[in-house]
Amino acid sequence: MSYVDEVIDLVVKQNPAEPEFHQAVKEVLESLRAVVEANEEQYRKEAILERIVNPERQFKFRVPWVDDKGNVQVNTGYRVQFNSAIGPYKGGLRLHPSVNLGIIKFLGFEQIFKNSLTGLPIGGGKGGSDFDPKGKSDREIMAFCQSFMTELCKYIGADTDVPAGDIGTGAREIGYMFGQYKRIRGVYEGVLTGKGLSYGGSLARTEATGYGLLYLTEEMLKCNGKDIKGATVCVSGAGNVAIYATQKAQELGAKVVTVSDSTGWIYDSEGIDVELLKEVKEVKRARLTEYAAARPSAEYHEGRGVWSIKCDVALPCATQNELNLDDAKQLVANGCYAVAEGANMPTTMDATEYLQKNGVLFAPGKAANAGGVATSALEMSQNSERLSWTFEEVDSKLKNIMVNIFHNLDDAAKRYNAEGNYVVGANIAGFEKVVDAMLAQGVC
Ligand code: NDP
Repeated sequence: MSYVDEVIDLVVKQNPAEPEFHQAVKEVLESLRAVVEANEEQYRKEAILERIVNPERQFKFRVPWVDDKGNVQVNTGYRVQFNSAIGPYKGGLRLHPSVNLGIIKFLGFEQIFKNSLTGLPIGGGKGGSDFDPKGKSDREIMAFCQSFMTELCKYIGADTDVPAGDIGTGAREIGYMFGQYKRIRGVYEGVLTGKGLSYGGSLARTEATGYGLLYLTEEMLKCNGKDIKGATVCVSGAGNVAIYATQKAQELGAKVVTVSDSTGWIYDSEGIDVELLKEVKEVKRARLTEYAAARPSAEYHEGRGVWSIKCDVALPCATQNELNLDDAKQLVANGCYAVAEGANMPTTMDATEYLQKNGVLFAPGKAANAGGVATSALEMSQNSERLSWTFEEVDSKLKNIMVNIFHNLDDAAKRYNAEGNYVVGANIAGFEKVVDAMLAQGVC
């Protein structure tokens, strides 16, 4: 049996009931076959694959907090410190009822390669809780965040592990967590990113993932003889990534006609009104029905359906496994020629294969959405320097990073005879740097 297959089997055996983690490991290792085969003897001897699929450390902890009725609620918190070969652990905190150890491990594993691709010195980690922020009062959110950080603060620090936002963790939650960290540890340091501007946050961090997605997509299209300008784009999600992806796509001359949330989706023939979307989602934290009510050109539909709309470019920006094989078939049938993942692993493996086989340009999330973590690393630099850069400075660094990421993965794919396969290219480019650092640092 090949080394790759042995390790995939081992992961499934050692981590039962973690299907998302299996999926992420399979996707990465399958695409690394050529590199692994070229270095098999050394990698086996050094147990490189066994080490890379095993987190360096993982924490699971109780998070008790008191709700508005005076009752104690108990959630579970997680932090997985996956790989620190190239820098301190870095990765977001997801607050969503679906969170479990397998989801956090899948995200932490992907984060290793994504962070490596940015070219910045950051290792891979991820955390979160099965807490559901929806429908909670501000006081309840604060109570949860304080309790969560009371435990988490033992394991993180500006030079060891620097968490950030993710689904359910926005500026409000980061603020409450930062306050609690400072209070308990007694240090004012850049331990979290995604902070507010008044206490060490970076300009352009809010926009970074969505903007970065478009900078990479624009470069990918350009290098394949296409143009984002004039393209019709379908976006899924209506959160941080989706909103700023929509904004930048429209600034670049595309027309975004859909967005969605966990209950339904919008088709807006006139193009999404970003200011209205921000008002509904960022200010009122309301459902998309409010968008439709305020906009005559918009239709609201219950359930899923974004990928049934004819488009040139599809940008899944909601959550994992939200674009399946049937969706991929529909996109291809409708003439879609590019898919770039704003969310983490939104496309199922069979859907990805179908898209690639049918000539659709496919940019995987670990490259396409790396702008968020890259700008988080820029926030860390600013915190260390005790300086703040302008929006334009950060945005232009972000753009350079995303364009470089695209060329790195394009080159890596070409080196291994997989031209145009950006999944293979992203995994190889991310993996090579991490392995090089692991080998240099000996058995650890
Ligand atoms: P948000 O919480 O801001 O938004 C998530 C959006 O997706 C919401 O509109 C939500 O709907 C929708 N959604 C969530 N779950 C589902 C579901 N099961 N079905 C349909 N829609 C769903 O998160 P972000 O925008 O920050 O993150 C989106 C994705 O991007 C995630 O995969 C995240 O890991 C990834 N990502 C985020 C980065 C960032 O900087 N924010 C960086 C890199 C990756 P509703 O409004 O109803 O909750």
